[in-house]
Amino acid sequence: MSKFTIAIHGGAGTILKSMLTPELELSYHIGLQDALNAGYHILEKGGFSIDAVQAAVVSLENNILFNAGKGSVFTNKGIHEMDACLMEGKNLEAGSVAGVRSVKNPILLCSEIMQHSGHVLLSGQGAQDFAVLRGMELLPEDYFYSEFRYNQWQEIKDSELYLLDHKENAGGSDKKFGTVGAVALDVHGNVAAATSTGGMTNKRYGRLGDSCIVGIGNYANNKTCAVSCTGHGEFFIRSVVAYDVSCLMEYKGMNLKDACEKVVLDKLVKIEGEGGLIAVDTLGSYELCFNSEGMYRGAKTSDGINVVGIYK
Ligand code: ASP
Repeated sequence: MSKFTIAIHGGAGTILKSMLTPELELSYHIGLQDALNAGYHILEKGGFSIDAVQAAVVSLENNILFNAGKGSVFTNKGIHEMDACLMEGKNLEAGSVAGVRSVKNPILLCSEIMQHSGHVLLSGQGAQDFAVLRGMELLPEDYFYSEFRYNQWQEIKDSELYLLDHKENAGGSDKKFGTVGAVALDVHGNVAAATSTGGMTNKRYGRLGDSCIVGIGNYANNKTCAVSCTGHGEFFIRSVVAYDVSCLMEYKGMNLKDACEKVVLDKLVKIEGEGGLIAVDTLGSYELCFNSEGMYRGAKTSDGINVVGIYK
């Protein structure tokens, strides 16, 4: 039997046990496991990785605990602006959205863009108009609201600060990134990657992060691997993270583990780029690699592995 694998993340950063009650920790575990199962279920029936990563990300976007779709963070204007990207490794097809406000599942809009727009990246109102054209569900602003994220924004909204999701307090050093992602290998040998985010609390409106950019926050190539990132987007953009992992494999012959570690634990660290990534290769290996205190993460494989974790 050909191997199949799925890995997911729900954001990286400083995630301390003291920041989570046992109940909340359990809810995160359940949310991660549900997302893994949603994707795995498709893979075990012989389905495609592109569908599996979308199913996993939709599950996380619909979960208010994670900073994507419902529960996205607030910009400095007190609104939600979401970025997402979907890519498949066979033909290098991709679809991305940037700065959308009322699309329930931005990752599904990425799929529509990939298949039906003739473009790769649509932003703002144009992306939303395209969503309507494709018959997608738009929801009012309050669908995306969560009290937790609103309070985070209140702490810093009158400052120039912008924060990664779940920072413990504005003045402290604890932070957690938010963004969700999935990568998968299917039985047909295809890899795919999906990433979706509300971005960073109090980010300047109109700011785009790494998550919507092919090759930075999200990348898939059947020659090498599929990668989905989470972390301080500006540093990830400057480091061209996802494509760099793929390039190290393609041009330098590195294996998945070494390539991920080179980028996350060496290159990003050198420029103080905090965060992590998940990746799978075409052999079915996976990596959950981060230079932060923790990363919400999980993986499930046809070899019987099923892991979910939060802390280092
Ligand atoms: N990378 C995302 C961004 O910069 C944030 C995150 O992963 O938490 O928008």
